[in-house]
Amino acid sequence: MCLKTVGEAKTMKDYRVVRKYDILKINGKERLIRPVDEKNVVLYYVKIEELFDILHETHSAIGHGGRNHMMAELKNKYCNITNETVMVYLKLCVQCQKKAVHRGAEKLLYRRRTNREVQQIYQKPGINAYLMSKRIEWAGHVWRSNGIRKKALEGKINGKRPRGRPRQRWIDRVVKEDIDKCAQGLTLEDSVDRDSWTKVVEAAKVLQGQ
Ligand SMILES: [Zn+2]
Repeated sequence: MCLKTVGEAKTMKDYRVVRKYDILKINGKERLIRPVDEKNVVLYYVKIEELFDILHETHSAIGHGGRNHMMAELKNKYCNITNETVMVYLKLCVQCQKKAVHRGAEKLLYRRRTNREVQQIYQKPGINAYLMSKRIEWAGHVWRSNGIRKKALEGKINGKRPRGRPRQRWIDRVVKEDIDKCAQGLTLEDSVDRDSWTKVVEAAKVLQGQ
């Protein structure tokens, strides 16, 4: 990336951007990376549409590893995946969540109980409603990530969209359905209002019969 565009005044923000971002061309495709340091390690910025798949593949590859294991893996290759993001993802993993519920239940009760019993004991909504609320929470979190990072994530770094049909994003596929179930008429854009979005997340938690 360079600052040589003619006829445009550069702001502090422009210089800040240049320090943080660089573009690497691989097979004619441009990838946003962190400027390479002395160690010569290339760290990629992950776009929204790639984020879930990358987390999912990493999580599976390390045999449902926890947050620390995940972060250790991801940091070798990517520079914009946060602890918080990984935590939200882990709460979406059905297998890990079931394990966690069982662990808790077994510790406390010394025998296995039915899902319904566990639910009553913990005063928690069913696992599906819980996971749905976590997906909605996740989508809002990603959506609210502001400024250039969000633009980068959306693939709008140069005001250009990639040619061809835009890849269907995970959040579009899954979360739209979720939102329709508990807050009809609302869209992801509404998540910029954090307080209202928290209410949607809460509504999803208490939604029964999923
Ligand atoms: Zn898992």
